[in-house]
Amino acid sequence: MVQNNPNFVLMVEDLTVSFDGFKAVNELSFYVEPNECRVIIGPNGAGKTTVLDLICGRTKATGGSVNFKGHELLNMREDQIVHAGVGRKFQTPSVYEDLTVFENLELSYPKGHNVFGALFFRRDDAVKARIQEIAEMIFLQDLLEEKAAFLSHGQKQWLEIGMLLIQDPELLMLDEPVAGMSVAERKKTAELLNRIIADRSVIVIEHDMGFVADIATRVTVLHQGKVLSEGSMERVQNDPKVIEVYLGH
Ligand code: ADP
Ligand code: MG
Repeated sequence: MVQNNPNFVLMVEDLTVSFDGFKAVNELSFYVEPNECRVIIGPNGAGKTTVLDLICGRTKATGGSVNFKGHELLNMREDQIVHAGVGRKFQTPSVYEDLTVFENLELSYPKGHNVFGALFFRRDDAVKARIQEIAEMIFLQDLLEEKAAFLSHGQKQWLEIGMLLIQDPELLMLDEPVAGMSVAERKKTAELLNRIIADRSVIVIEHDMGFVADIATRVTVLHQGKVLSEGSMERVQNDPKVIEVYLGH
């Protein structure tokens, strides 16, 4: 067990992964505070998706430490990491097309033990209330009975975020959540993220700098598996190292 530090929900230190000798993530360190929206930017191949894969246990690290509220995530399996309170959304939406919005959310509701029959009814009501609450948050309250197949691409992305939110993770990680979304949908997604960090921290990988400006508490610029620059949006945008990497592309 690593030490819990209440100032940070996540402490990534010297995180490294080597694929056949190529270090996609190279002694990377960064720290995420409670109620923070951290945006990770960086050129293609910088290692952004790999960082999320390492944190959620999908890819095994070669070295370093990922301390989530006193849990060493590098020693845990993917399902244990989810159970500890880390939710991860991948780039392509993976909702159940043949099920309704309600059913998709219901499926994602954390399973209780249901040992006591008398509690069934109350659990049912609690589940419905929670689904309603989440549906309002993700702008789908009027589409609960709609099959997911009929949702727009953006609405599917929101539904998938809802399916993670219903599990109440303390850290939510999103890989390019607004890719393929309209301008209006991007604005609403920024609103959604600003609302959800009231109760949790979020790590977002993003390219759209307008969207980044709308959501970021802090920005980490990744380059060749390392932190190139970090701080406010304004700070990193004016950092000569960042300008050079982006213009050089
Ligand atoms: P980004 O998300 O910043 O575009 P990635 O994290 O997807 O970058 O990839 C970083 C680098 O690591 C790339 O060069 C990619 O080809 C390489 N890479 C990622 N995953 C693997 C893997 N499983 N095996 C080998 N190389 C990988
Ligand atoms: Mg990526």
